[in-house]
Amino acid sequence: MIGSFLNVLIYRIPEGKDFVKERSHCPNCGKLVFWYENIPVLSYIFLKGKCSKCGWKIPLIYPTVEIITGLASWALMPTILDSMNLGLYLFFFSVFCCFLVHFIIDVKVQILPDVINIFLGVVFLAYAISFYSYNFWLLGAGVGYFFPYLVSYGFKKLRGVDGLGLGDVKLFGVLGIMLGPLGIVQNIFMSCMLGTIVFLILIPVFKLNRETKVPFGPFIILVASAQIFFPDAFDKFSRLLFF
Ligand SMILES: [Zn+2]
Repeated sequence: MIGSFLNVLIYRIPEGKDFVKERSHCPNCGKLVFWYENIPVLSYIFLKGKCSKCGWKIPLIYPTVEIITGLASWALMPTILDSMNLGLYLFFFSVFCCFLVHFIIDVKVQILPDVINIFLGVVFLAYAISFYSYNFWLLGAGVGYFFPYLVSYGFKKLRGVDGLGLGDVKLFGVLGIMLGPLGIVQNIFMSCMLGTIVFLILIPVFKLNRETKVPFGPFIILVASAQIFFPDAFDKFSRLLFF
């Protein structure tokens, strides 16, 4: 059900639509979705992936988001459920949901919405205040915001075009709260590397040129996911990479 709500966010945030009050409807013909057509995953199967009125093909991304969110909520579940673990569970699951929404919106429309960055910031801040010293997260946020900001400012001065979107800069700043100064520098470095490798592969496939706008957020998010959800594996990997 939360995955279903994330679909609503993914669809409505870029269009500036209300995502709480408005009832679900078919984007093609406007038909209101009945409750039994709105059951996560099952309704997609039961509707055979089509709107019951106009036959509009429901994109496969909808049930995919629902399945991925369901799997994540299960995979993150702690073995012993006390209040501490419940808090941590809610934290990690919230981060996962924000990352998923950011990722798909950025791929679709090359935007990292402010509302998601702000929510992530609040969640990270709550965690950072509970577990880190204030200079760790303050410095992390500072480095995460100003380092990419200066690079992007310089790039714009030199080339006259935006190299890095402001949404990416804000996301780096917000992630800095959670990752600290060293972690965010590692993220900046590795997401740039990952992005470069993927684009070098994609350039011939999609015949991209230097002027093509490409989303960068997904790479930041992939690296941050490794850092936040698999910290031990990430440490081993980064040690292998750096020294
Ligand atoms: Zn329809």
